[in-house]
Amino acid sequence: MNMNIALVPGDGIGPEIVEQAVRVLDKVADQFGHKVTYTNLLAGGCAIDATGKPLPEETLEKAKAADSVLLGAVGGPKWEHLDGIRPEQALLGLRAGLGLYANLRPALLYQELKFACPLKPEIIGDHLDIMIVRELTGGIYFGDSGREGDSAYDTERYSKAEVERVLKVAVKIAQGRKKKLTIVDKANVLESSRLWREVAAEVLEGSGLDVNYMYVDNATMQLVRNPQQFDVIVTSNMFGDIISDEASMLTGSIGMLPSASLGDGKKGMYEPIHGSAPDIAGKGIANPLATILSVAMMLRHSFELEKEARAIETAVQKTLQDGFRTADLVENAEMKAVSTKEMGDAVLARL
Ligand code: NAD
Repeated sequence: MNMNIALVPGDGIGPEIVEQAVRVLDKVADQFGHKVTYTNLLAGGCAIDATGKPLPEETLEKAKAADSVLLGAVGGPKWEHLDGIRPEQALLGLRAGLGLYANLRPALLYQELKFACPLKPEIIGDHLDIMIVRELTGGIYFGDSGREGDSAYDTERYSKAEVERVLKVAVKIAQGRKKKLTIVDKANVLESSRLWREVAAEVLEGSGLDVNYMYVDNATMQLVRNPQQFDVIVTSNMFGDIISDEASMLTGSIGMLPSASLGDGKKGMYEPIHGSAPDIAGKGIANPLATILSVAMMLRHSFELEKEARAIETAVQKTLQDGFRTADLVENAEMKAVSTKEMGDAVLARL
């Protein structure tokens, strides 16, 4: 298979972690007989420096032309006080410009990193593997908002089509996992949530999934009380924003978690959930595993290369089993931390 990838390293640790992810993708492609070509693109603070804009037209055009996008992270203190321009506008511009409305955030706790989970071992159990599907381009973050006199308002608005398409993504994901789907909403209060339930009843008919509905306040509580009950969760933009951060904390390690943003076609944007970590940028100590795991998600969701995706995930697991830890993952003072590149080397050696 030929894969044409738009690479958007971004700012801070972005270029360092993307470099390791590219090495891993190149090796997997080589092993399985695929060809990868890369187009390097500017977005975020580095794009502001070079062009005055966080998302130059050329970046969006070339990202549209690519099969998929791999992004590092954008932003940093250098660009925090510019008038009306923020590096993060590049992310929203790419998501909207590429029509990516479903955000997938797995919360996967590796046994080797169990110490980092804030929950008691008996609550975590043997395994924690939850996939959150968040609607990404609708709802209250995009609805009408404003001020009137001394009040302010934001509007939660969803169309049937917006709900339907994200539910279809969640159904497909759930069918490929444990066939269990939880729809999180606030249907006891919100009309928009009642629309979600109506649409869900149609979309889920004949899906073969074990489906349950849960109010968001209960869901946030259940996530820390009994996270084992969840497999795939689907929810609106704002609820997903909150719940996916809560779930990611259960894994205890921000440097480990990948994400995917998907739309109607095969194209997606894949990135670690963490930011540009300006405090450690340039030191060569950032954890590249979230970005490497984002490549695995890309192979699975954009190219349907499940074996290749698993090869990367297994290599990452073995790397952790063999005791490799970047500074963010060290458990105690006796543990020696490896560098970003050494972590990349260790994954490559186990592929
Ligand atoms: P952050 O995720 O960049 O960093 C939070 C903490 O986690 C820091 O201590 C950092 O060193 C650490 N960390 C993050 N990733 C790590 C990694 N791979 N390895 C080791 N340690 C890691 O969040 P922040 O400090 O709130 O934000 C910094 C900048 O990133 C801001 O400009 C913010 O707007 C931007 N940001 C960008 C994205 C994105 O591009 N998707 C997401 C979040 C924040």
